[in-house]
Amino acid sequence: MINENFFNMLKQQDADVYSEEPMSKHTTFHIGGNADCFCEVKNISSLKNIIYLCKEYAVPYFIIGLGSNLLVADDGIRGLVIKLGGEFNSITLLEDNYIRCGAGVSLARLCVFARKISLSGVEFAWGIPGSVGGAVYMNAGAYEGEISQIVDSAAYIDSNGNSKKYSGNELKFSYRNSVFTNTDNIITDVTFKLEPKPQELITDRMQELMDRRKAKQPINHPSAGSIFKRPGKNIYAAALIEECGLKGFSIGGAEVSTKHSGFIVNDHNATAKDVKALIEHIQKIVLEQKGIKLCCEVKFIG
Ligand SMILES: Cc1cc2nc3c(=O)[nH]c(=O)nc-3n(C[C@H](O)[C@H](O)[C@H](O)COP(=O)(O)OP(=O)(O)OC[C@H]3O[C@@H](n4cnc5c(N)ncnc54)[C@H](O)[C@@H]3O)c2cc1C
Repeated sequence: MINENFFNMLKQQDADVYSEEPMSKHTTFHIGGNADCFCEVKNISSLKNIIYLCKEYAVPYFIIGLGSNLLVADDGIRGLVIKLGGEFNSITLLEDNYIRCGAGVSLARLCVFARKISLSGVEFAWGIPGSVGGAVYMNAGAYEGEISQIVDSAAYIDSNGNSKKYSGNELKFSYRNSVFTNTDNIITDVTFKLEPKPQELITDRMQELMDRRKAKQPINHPSAGSIFKRPGKNIYAAALIEECGLKGFSIGGAEVSTKHSGFIVNDHNATAKDVKALIEHIQKIVLEQKGIKLCCEVKFIG
């Protein structure tokens, strides 16, 4: 699928290009076989050129952020995996408490930046190990906060390589979904609207939320966070899994976390096959015992 011409043309772009790149290096699960081709692209004109090349050579592409919500197949990914680096990692303070952020910026960096200039709104994301692009795609949220509450607009490149932008209601945010879900559009930068607040209050809130995470989540074990979506208002996948006696249950190296039953952890060199088998087992038991179908929040690739 990847021919030499494509690879050579790719290498002429402002991008770090690798063939047979292990995806286990790019996912918080530390699971996943090789991508045929992987590139970290540095700027928008190279990103557009790469999209044109993929079209011309009929190479499928997949955009990743920080890989914190992904389960990559053991056989890896056919085609090109694109990660945003270089100028996609910049943050700019605009007027009137707006911040423009490259989609490759980590949520952690955004939180630290906002706190430094006493702007509030993004504290909920402290501890979510994703990027701005991944957070907008997923409409990431925690502790009554959601990225949808602070996004003003998101610029993206469509599958023809055209620059476009969505604002306000066009972003169609809903629980763990956005207008970008299941499209090939690549978010390039996002503008946030934040509110001034005393820095101590922002720090206190971030600290409080991090303490809650550390107390409840297996953050020192490789995982992709909550595997399942909340099946309904005030119904939690973790509680259902625990009530079904599955806390600590394992298949191969994949285990239902003993700290938080909504997490599957890779404790003993788990394969994607182990994780998938465990997910299916949990879904089957919870459906049988509780009559509730659990849907995955984690994205499968490859
Ligand atoms: C320990 C832990 C705790 C977590 N806690 C939370 C939590 O509290 N709340 C929560 O919502 N999530 C949580 N997560 C899940 C995850 O961090 C979020 O879903 C995060 O938003 C994913 O961002 P990412 O950059 O890692 O995206 P990835 O996992 O790399 O990708 C996720 C999806 O976004 C798409 N995507 C990524 N970047 C772009 C882009 N630039 N343009 C278009 N599409 C893109 C990918 O194609 C993929 O479909 C947690 C994960 C872990 C490991």
